[in-house]
Amino acid sequence: MPSAHYLPLDPQASDADDLEEEEGQQEHRTSMNNNQYNIRYHPQPAVDYDVVVDDDDNDDDRTPTMGKAPRLSRSIPSRRRCWIMPIMLLVPFCIVFLYFMLSSQTLGLGTSLEDVDDDYEPHNDSPNTHALNETLHICSESHEDGRLYVQDKPSSAYAQLPVIYFVTPTYPRREQIPELTRLAHSLLHVPRLHWLVANDHERCDTYMDILLNRFGIPFTHMASPMPHKFRNSKPAPRGVANRRAALQWIRQHNLTNGVLYFGDDDNTYDLRLFTEIRQTQRVSMFPVGLIADYAVSGPVVRDGKVVAFLDSWVAARRWPVDMAGFAVNLGYMSLYPNVNMPYKPGYEEDLFLRSIGLHIDQIEPRGNNCTEILVWHTQTKNKKSPVVRLEKKYLDGRSNLGALFRSLKVMGVAFASDTEGPLATISKNGKGKPHSYFLS
Ligand code: UDP
Ligand code: MN
Repeated sequence: MPSAHYLPLDPQASDADDLEEEEGQQEHRTSMNNNQYNIRYHPQPAVDYDVVVDDDDNDDDRTPTMGKAPRLSRSIPSRRRCWIMPIMLLVPFCIVFLYFMLSSQTLGLGTSLEDVDDDYEPHNDSPNTHALNETLHICSESHEDGRLYVQDKPSSAYAQLPVIYFVTPTYPRREQIPELTRLAHSLLHVPRLHWLVANDHERCDTYMDILLNRFGIPFTHMASPMPHKFRNSKPAPRGVANRRAALQWIRQHNLTNGVLYFGDDDNTYDLRLFTEIRQTQRVSMFPVGLIADYAVSGPVVRDGKVVAFLDSWVAARRWPVDMAGFAVNLGYMSLYPNVNMPYKPGYEEDLFLRSIGLHIDQIEPRGNNCTEILVWHTQTKNKKSPVVRLEKKYLDGRSNLGALFRSLKVMGVAFASDTEGPLATISKNGKGKPHSYFLS
């Protein structure tokens, strides 16, 4: 029976040409085998327990200190004295060693891509990696699947499949409703899917509630605006606040079963993508078409394993992949409580994947070993909503135009005005006539 519950995978064979990295990961994989995850994100300094010998002779009084020198308030027995000396000599040596290691990294000396660690090292200059704490309003949601049939089978036939949590950041512009409509008609063919529509907007949009309800796809509609301080930054962190809000929602619901996928509102999805990602055990990856200079971005696969990445913009990213190019098992993600997606344009995917401690050995290549394109980074031309001159007195029940323009206004597509914009042309037999001719 298929399940998206996280199942520990067998250890993967080492890559002969990557020995250095392998050694560094040994400890990590050993703990994987024991089903104990080594959470590497934001490692905490080790807390030493220093036995403080108090005057009340209570030797059980253990106080955590951050690597302070031992506090000795009584004479030291000779057995302890003999190991304290080497430690005291070792500590300054360690400090000097660490100092050189860190400064050479900061200066970019002696680091290769293979050396890049799992933490946020190249990016921790950013002030925008704060914990998930987004403004989030749940506008409406439905956990019921209103579709009787999906792909020629009753919805109930799919009950055993893991749920795909499809996160769509979206924002108000004239193309929003058409994009969501097109996407919904793809998702309508996908069983066991919960659509998280996160709108980059201050308020709940009731038109969107009605639209989403009509499709019958289980959904959650939330309003999660980009914080003001990022609005005018160039480039702006597009779709970050809303994806973060969706991550928060997943965490709040303690979801540990199912698969997470970030699906933008303007991409094009092949239905086979959903079959491919549904069985994700940890993180699956696959190529995305129409990305940047090569019109493609995705993993390089040899002998069924991801060994590198093809993408025209590396920019020191450890994971140079598009947001649509991977899926994550929620059981696996739940093991990383510091999951994050920072407000750092261009680095959202990389830093998100770092925050869940991903290692290249763990990636599951999909789409016939990454030979097929199952998702396209299509982009819709973004234009300003026009204002059309069409007098209000004609926008009543005498013709369709009143209702039509009210609806276009609600969708943010076009606006009618008594005084502004180019005069609306209304014609018959190839000839424009005054509005009064047809509408009064
Ligand atoms: N987006 C958003 N707020 C914005 C701009 C974009 O929520 O201010 C969403 C958008 O609807 C899309 C995703 O973020 O789902 C990525 O944006 P876009 O498609 O414009 O960027 P692309 O990746 O195509 O350059
Ligand atoms: Mn896009």
